[in-house]
Amino acid sequence: MIYFDNCATTKPDAAVLSAFIKINETFYFNAASPHEKGLETNQLQEEARSQIKNILKLDQQSIVFTSGATESNNMALTGMARAKKAFGRTIITTEIEHPSVLETIRGLEQEGFAVKYVKFKEDGAFDMDHFRGLLSPDVILVSVMHVNNVMGAVLPVAEIAEVLKRYPKVHFHVDCVQSFGKVPLVIDGVHSFSLSGHKFHGLKGQGLLVVNQLRNLAQTVYGGGQEYGFRSGTSNVAANVTLSKAMRLAMEEMEMQRARLYQFKQEIESFVKQYPGIQLNSQAGGAPHIVNFSFVGIKGEVIVNAFSRRGIMISTTSACSSKRAKLNETLTALHVDEATITGSVRLSLSKYNTVEEIEAFKEAFKEIYSEVEELLNK
Ligand code: PLP
Repeated sequence: MIYFDNCATTKPDAAVLSAFIKINETFYFNAASPHEKGLETNQLQEEARSQIKNILKLDQQSIVFTSGATESNNMALTGMARAKKAFGRTIITTEIEHPSVLETIRGLEQEGFAVKYVKFKEDGAFDMDHFRGLLSPDVILVSVMHVNNVMGAVLPVAEIAEVLKRYPKVHFHVDCVQSFGKVPLVIDGVHSFSLSGHKFHGLKGQGLLVVNQLRNLAQTVYGGGQEYGFRSGTSNVAANVTLSKAMRLAMEEMEMQRARLYQFKQEIESFVKQYPGIQLNSQAGGAPHIVNFSFVGIKGEVIVNAFSRRGIMISTTSACSSKRAKLNETLTALHVDEATITGSVRLSLSKYNTVEEIEAFKEAFKEIYSEVEELLNK
């Protein structure tokens, strides 16, 4: 089996997996228990929290362990919007965000908040002028993703943060799920960001919300008061501790993997684009691990199934939102036409992919192309 669906999830690193089992065997205690074993377990978790602060080179920010970025995005957006509602009611985001952001904001609309979406230019670039024009005294929250999960577009987080320096009332949240370990994080001027461990060879159920001035966040989860009172529930210590390990590995390997994956990406792109009827969708300057192209005139699902039958796992859209409508939303916002959207497929790469796998992909592609060639709009 060849796995090219690493934006959906990645294979856990063996070191992370074995540490997770070991910690569950030796530190299965409740980190909130007052006895010796509880205190030791709590200490282990707090050490992981400070290691993460070092890995991310954080200063004043707080780290809240969560079950993943969906929870982190919900918590940050709902908590900040509610906390700031006395100052304004407008939220700015984009139409290409993950549903954990878009649906949370739709929920906030039901509570009386208004939402404005930043446009993208014809070439798919974030429209900074349009963004500047949307800013008004009523804006309290801006939320963007760093790297888009469908197309690999990298959003200009540093430039947005720079513009927002003149709007001290605005909280700037960034979804770093697809960027962590792939491109350098931008933290300066960002007030909160989210991560999921399973996207960089950690485990499902591991996540973070990093927040500046946590005390300003409105509480959204109620219970025993864990995680500074913001995320109640018995701590998943083994997950939290091994998240730190997965983060360290990802950061140590980033520069090397970034160059390697970028080379693979370029190789795939220059190979597929020689074929008439194949349209390259991933933008120049995009994330190193995401390749998106279309078999114009053929359904992406047909192509995914054809690769799948040959043991190669690729994707049409983000696995988190299997509904085609979501993919259409992202691609339409980026000005991709209907036929290209329908035929779009995504390959997302990881450190475990090899040169041999890229060659196997090319061979499978040639076979599939010759099977469907007649049907392509060339
Ligand atoms: N944000 C982005 C950009 C994603 O791609 C995903 C998942 O694919 C998420 C958030 C949600 O992550 P999780 O499902 O781990 O909560």
